[in-house]
Amino acid sequence: MRAAVLHEPRSPVTVEDVELDPPHEDEVLVRVVAAGVCRSDLHFADGVLGDGRWPMVLGHEGAGVVEEVGARVRHVAHGDRVAFCFVPSCAECRPCRAGRPNLCETAGRASLRGTLLDGTSRLHLDSTTLQHCLLTSCFADRVVIAAAGAIPLPEAVPLWQAALLGCGVMTGIGAVRNTAGVRIGESVCVVGCGGVGLHVVAGARLAGAARIVAVDRDPAKLELALRRGATHAIDAAEGGRAVRRLTDGGVDHAFEVVGLPETIRLAWDTLRPGGTAVVVGLAARGAEVSLPAIEFLSEKSILGCYYGSANIAVELPELVQLVVDGRLALGDVVSHFTDLDGVEEALQRLRAGEGARTVVVIDADLAGAPV
Ligand SMILES: [Zn+2]
Ligand SMILES: [Zn+2]
Repeated sequence: MRAAVLHEPRSPVTVEDVELDPPHEDEVLVRVVAAGVCRSDLHFADGVLGDGRWPMVLGHEGAGVVEEVGARVRHVAHGDRVAFCFVPSCAECRPCRAGRPNLCETAGRASLRGTLLDGTSRLHLDSTTLQHCLLTSCFADRVVIAAAGAIPLPEAVPLWQAALLGCGVMTGIGAVRNTAGVRIGESVCVVGCGGVGLHVVAGARLAGAARIVAVDRDPAKLELALRRGATHAIDAAEGGRAVRRLTDGGVDHAFEVVGLPETIRLAWDTLRPGGTAVVVGLAARGAEVSLPAIEFLSEKSILGCYYGSANIAVELPELVQLVVDGRLALGDVVSHFTDLDGVEEALQRLRAGEGARTVVVIDADLAGAPV
């Protein structure tokens, strides 16, 4: 099968003929139909993520059609449409048993090692074993993933849109719903309005936030945020004070969706006393952030967030229902469509901060994409 391979960090991704082993008993083989290009893929490509073992097939956000299931798989069958979840819960470790499957330790270890849940890879190039990207590797014709990483989808959601559910949508909306617990009438600031930030905006609107202030340095992204329900847009250069002035002393919840120390500080600076900053953005290893400690006196707080603090198997189908009912739009965050050969170019665009999400259409007939 064809797959987009990263041979080593900071080298261009190349599309190659890769061998894919059949699924083990708790795994499924899925024909990939469409995949989103996320900033985490860029972090792998730039060597910011990953523990130094390469090559790797990139891609962790996508959707497709099940072709083969392992002997113990019951919840999906041949022909089912699924979205990928890149933290398939092992159901046995402490976080999984404690109801926090997004923090699954088994999946975390596999992520670091570049394997599936059982610690091995299904991907080979000649005699070399390839790493899985976040237990998925969906910039490819097909994937083998843990069964828990395949979330069933109804017919009503086009697969080019469903491709975005498993990372950007779940992360952005989960951050609002689970990490922050935004309530009706509260005020929200979103720092960074790319592929995930735009879903934070949509989540805040669904949660009934009264004021939603979008902050970015790119006017096009601010425009998109306004269309998704932001009530105000502010250039990042204007800083936290401009947001506080606009919101009567600051917001209840600030979401940082960039992953840089200075934008984390900016999110903090937009808070009112008692407000909470949620860091959704993925920072580079070694990055440190400093905050004025005196402000803890005013009960400002800061929270981490991974995968929207979500129970994905339960919550992703709930989000799908909102999409089916026309209450959550997905397509408008897509700025570009491409194919497997265009993955490298899509990564370059992300690096340059251009556009929102790129969707890699791998099977144009099944994707239903408007291209
Ligand atoms: Zn992602
Ligand atoms: Zn677990």
